[in-house]
Amino acid sequence: MSNENTTIHDFDFNIICDYFSALKRQGPGSPEMTLKALSFIDPLAEHARITDIGCGTGGQTMVLAQHTPGTITGIDLSPQFIGLFNRNAAECGLQNRLKGITGNMEELPFQTDSLDLIWCEGAIYNIGFEKGLSEWRHFLKPGGYIAVTEACWFTDIRPDEIDKFWNDAYPGIGTIPVKVAQMQAAGYIPVATFILPDNCWTDHFFVPQEGMQDDFLKRYNGSGYAASLVEEMRNEALMYEKYGAYYGYVFFIGKKLVN
Ligand code: SAH
Repeated sequence: MSNENTTIHDFDFNIICDYFSALKRQGPGSPEMTLKALSFIDPLAEHARITDIGCGTGGQTMVLAQHTPGTITGIDLSPQFIGLFNRNAAECGLQNRLKGITGNMEELPFQTDSLDLIWCEGAIYNIGFEKGLSEWRHFLKPGGYIAVTEACWFTDIRPDEIDKFWNDAYPGIGTIPVKVAQMQAAGYIPVATFILPDNCWTDHFFVPQEGMQDDFLKRYNGSGYAASLVEEMRNEALMYEKYGAYYGYVFFIGKKLVN
């Protein structure tokens, strides 16, 4: 039974990866907001060591690499995404400074006090915001930074439909002050917090999906898990259109001061 479940799960995961491989980004964000987050971080040393966790195909990693010194290790659970990540790095001429590896954010292959910067856009929800922040902290050098995006409520009360939608999808969602307090409790100084603008969801995430969904459905004959995935993604876009005033992605930048 458990083997059967694993197989079904793997099959679904492969279809999800196939869907998102066709996109530049696998979550809401934009090059401008990656650079804005970077602007809150003290200049990095020449040999800085950086990781991008849940990097996907590396949309944001390429931007980061073009504006930082040192080396970046991208880590993602999906070998398909990592293949594309390394191809993108080579196409940008960044293969000497950028390396994508397949791995799990719950078992990172770094040493204590070894990293200058941990980056993670649209992926920390997979481990959970609090758990990710506290488990990853020891990999940072004292003075090192973390920059992550997380889905947040903008208000304390909101319509039932969107409340239910998010509580089913990600019960860890919380308001910005709650997340800032969690960052502080995990041992970081909250340095900056800002909301990703609408175009990070629309132009950079939902619109590119509209352009490939019909093709994707054709490839899978419009049936089975592929069809429900497209339906789910279309519903996510509708929810954002209807209730985008109540929630969004937020960048949190934190600094580890001492060990
Ligand atoms: N950072 C990218 C991708 C975000 S989508 C962007 O903003 O475009 C979330 C990513 O997390 C996916 O690429 C998914 O494969 C990856 N992921 C999910 N669970 C993971 C885990 N346990 N360890 C590492 N990566 C994981």
